[in-house]
Amino acid sequence: MPNIAKGVYIHVPFCRRKCPYCDFYSVVADDETIHNYALALIRNILSFNACGEKVDTVYFGGGTPSLMSPEDVAKILYAVSHTFTLCNNAEITLEANPCTVDLNKLCAFKQAGINRLSFGVQSANNNELSRLGRLHDFSQAELAVINAQNAGFTNISCDLMIGTPNQTLASLKESVHRLASLKIQHISAYMLKIEEGTAYDCDSVRNSVADDDTVSDMYLLMCRELESLGYKQYEISNFAAKGYESRHNLKYWQGTDYIGFGPAAHSFWHGKRFYVPADLKSYLSSSAQITVAEDEAPDPLEEYIMLSLRLCSGLSLKKLSSIGGNPKALLNAAQPFINGGFANVNGDSICLTPNGFLVSNQIILKLIMSQL
Ligand code: SF4
Repeated sequence: MPNIAKGVYIHVPFCRRKCPYCDFYSVVADDETIHNYALALIRNILSFNACGEKVDTVYFGGGTPSLMSPEDVAKILYAVSHTFTLCNNAEITLEANPCTVDLNKLCAFKQAGINRLSFGVQSANNNELSRLGRLHDFSQAELAVINAQNAGFTNISCDLMIGTPNQTLASLKESVHRLASLKIQHISAYMLKIEEGTAYDCDSVRNSVADDDTVSDMYLLMCRELESLGYKQYEISNFAAKGYESRHNLKYWQGTDYIGFGPAAHSFWHGKRFYVPADLKSYLSSSAQITVAEDEAPDPLEEYIMLSLRLCSGLSLKKLSSIGGNPKALLNAAQPFINGGFANVNGDSICLTPNGFLVSNQIILKLIMSQL
């Protein structure tokens, strides 16, 4: 894909405190370490041989990227624009925790070149936030969003979690409405998964979360409510006002190249998938980041089925055929799901419905099997 602009992902593996459910690669660190990390990122970005490739999205994810200083963020973006050809209209996102930013810092991030913010709000219910071990309450999240708007941000996303301890259908509905009342442009909604080895991996948490059927009802309720509030679903977990879909995240699902910097960052670059080992110490001392090829690079056909069906735009039968797939066999395999209301056919495309998204793993497996 020579002319399609690519994406840059920058992992910031620091948090003020580790949330009990989280298994992302992040550690608690002081300001000096975070600054040294920014310098290591800059070295690594500048030493990357990008041959001036065009980039139109940059995404600072974490961890908690808002723990970095705006000055360091500006310098990292300068390094990105030096190594790559950064498009004028690039979408430049920074993930932020509500309690790590005030109006001054948000103005400085805007000045540094950030034009999209993604706040880890998770819930509008303070009891739920405290069970999640979050450092903010909802009034702090509201203030962070209002400050961001006053700083001039017009593209703001908030994360919401489903199936958290003690959450009910009513409290989820209230969270959805309170988030929407903040006039944000985008909402990402993730189901809580109890990951092995985290503090949440215990019976007391398992006993306080809703059962699978209720979590499914929560997901469907949330899809309906968000739709009625003007947030159109465009991916299994993502909803946006028209024109505010995350351009960076779309690259992951559309098979567009992106390059990751920082420990634990993944890349898909020139047809290869690789990652940076999750080792902060060695990253801090290296002059050029070491990458490791992914163990099992999936077959392009399998990968296309898996990724395209996450999107509401769905899978194109024409594209499937162009990469060696069998559209007829796929349509046959999809028929029971279409009849059952789990999938739809729109012209050349097959896409999953919200009910289908709830069982997407099983559907995708059947559709992949149809191509063997
Ligand atoms: S703030 Fe985010 S990345 Fe950090 S520990 Fe909590 S959930 Fe994980």
